[in-house]
Amino acid sequence: MKAGWWLLLFVATLRSAWGQVLPDTARILCGTVSLTPAQRKLLEGAAAQAVAQRQADASAPTGITYVPIRPHILRRSDGTGGYSLTSLNNVIALTNRYYKPAGIQFFFAGTTPDYVDDDALYASFESGASESVIATRNAANALNLYYIQAFSNPGMGGYSYFPANDVRSTQSFIRVGSDDDLGNRLIPHELGHIFNLIHTFDTSNGYEQVSGGNCKSAGDLVCDTPADPTGWPQFPDAGPDCVSGCPSVYNCTFTESGTNAQYRPSPTNIMSYFFPCTHDLTPGQYRRIMDGLTLRQTHTAYSLTAPSTDAAPVTDLSAAIVSGQVTLSWTDWNSNEMGYFIERSVTGNPADFVCIGGVGPNATTFVDGHAPSATTVFYRLRSSNSTGSWSNVTSIATPVCRPDYAYGCQRYLTGIGGVTIDSRVLSQNSGCAASGFSQSATVVPSLTAGRSYPFAISPINRVNAMRLTIWADFNRNGSFSDPGEQVYQTPASTTAVVTGSLTIPPTVSPGRVSLRIISVAVSADNPTDPCGSYEYGEAEDYQLAIGSISDVVKTVQNGPWTDPAVWSVNRVPATGDAVTIEHVISLPPAQQPTPSGQARRITISPGGKLIYASGGVLRLN
Ligand SMILES: [Zn+2]
Repeated sequence: MKAGWWLLLFVATLRSAWGQVLPDTARILCGTVSLTPAQRKLLEGAAAQAVAQRQADASAPTGITYVPIRPHILRRSDGTGGYSLTSLNNVIALTNRYYKPAGIQFFFAGTTPDYVDDDALYASFESGASESVIATRNAANALNLYYIQAFSNPGMGGYSYFPANDVRSTQSFIRVGSDDDLGNRLIPHELGHIFNLIHTFDTSNGYEQVSGGNCKSAGDLVCDTPADPTGWPQFPDAGPDCVSGCPSVYNCTFTESGTNAQYRPSPTNIMSYFFPCTHDLTPGQYRRIMDGLTLRQTHTAYSLTAPSTDAAPVTDLSAAIVSGQVTLSWTDWNSNEMGYFIERSVTGNPADFVCIGGVGPNATTFVDGHAPSATTVFYRLRSSNSTGSWSNVTSIATPVCRPDYAYGCQRYLTGIGGVTIDSRVLSQNSGCAASGFSQSATVVPSLTAGRSYPFAISPINRVNAMRLTIWADFNRNGSFSDPGEQVYQTPASTTAVVTGSLTIPPTVSPGRVSLRIISVAVSADNPTDPCGSYEYGEAEDYQLAIGSISDVVKTVQNGPWTDPAVWSVNRVPATGDAVTIEHVISLPPAQQPTPSGQARRITISPGGKLIYASGGVLRLN
């Protein structure tokens, strides 16, 4: 009944031009051991029966079903080592986000994790043999999650069990790793098997057709997950390398024999073997998870009824913006919490809160690095071993988002050294911002809507090739993501100074506009998200001052050029303005070297007249 085992595949190690080794990117592959067709038939029959019974009883759960997880953490015999409580809370909080659409939220059973202090198991956990050693540890009223330091098979990353009326089927074994991978992929995937989800590419029930015609009986038995040829013997190249980029896309071309139809698997599905930048499950998979829960609730060898811990709600939850990020703080009255789950909503409606992260016991702060930009956001939290006891709700208006970097610019000096727009030097030898992100107070003055300006961006070093994307918040709504706001991308990665042209759309109204430049180094792709997470590189924000809108500077009355009241924009025309004269306008003597008046272009309408006084100078530029 083992659902899966995991392999590690190390991609080619990248070496920087400085001779230092960049971090390895580990790819965890899941090699499946599926049920036999006979076992699968029995299990599907049992699930269908449980669902039919539930419908007959009209006992379908409404709202949220809280499912207890008993955490077991392997440590050395002396009690050292092992998975941290902070990560333990954080990864289940992230997992909760993926299970909300199924009406499932996990909480921890107990007030502390079960610590398995055993040097031998800590050094090497062997599926099968080691399981019998820890079998007495299983709670009979919860799912049992074991946090493994190392499997005896060094390529194994984790496995779990499909539903069965056996307490062992409640076990998942997770090799500890990054919060991002465990919370967004590995644990949601293994718990998917726990609730009867099958790999999208499974063939033990037959090959799913591209048309989906046999989707109810073949593949993963779910009809809204397209056929996925990963690992099929007839397509030896179908695998994780077919998916790249962010948003992730499936790049390989495999066609179905007989129909010539092309396979288009989802590159982001949690039950696939892909490693995308975002992860999801389909409505069909969520229905199957709900049915899997219903089936497990009929089992008698164990239950999912471990009680919630009666924890006192935290109070005084408040939010502040610190270094551009939402920082929560609260007062912790508890002595029996296993940690806290933090939830966020953009409406404040209780039904809309979604788990976004977790912290360990006695923590009193949390930084939300992924709050939506320029929005009012609401927060609340609960003890992670409680199903209620919510804190007060607090809200705060978030600032414009900022990108973040895992490694930034400092280690290899892979950043932006200088920026010039319209021959104005905005920064020069600016070095590396500590976080990889800086906001400059430098303003590019008097740019004009409807015109284009040359820019040049120089790298700090000319060794590591970089890619650049530039955005401008032309409509000033706090977001760089509106149509037309991405204004430049490098055509290829380069070690040279990047030059190009920045066009201000004619519709931009006068005033300040934020400009964002994101550079990435050692990347196959241009930055695509103005608020995204990157590895190496640097981002810088500047301000553009848009001086006027072309072709709307007109006269409204007779008078001297230098009188603001003469002009439709209630100011004297500036460099870059296209001016239309419909009245009698006099140009007074110039105060050299300043001319009497400036404009980009002048149109004299019928009835309009421009009279030069002696010494009057008009400069067109
Ligand atoms: Zn799996």
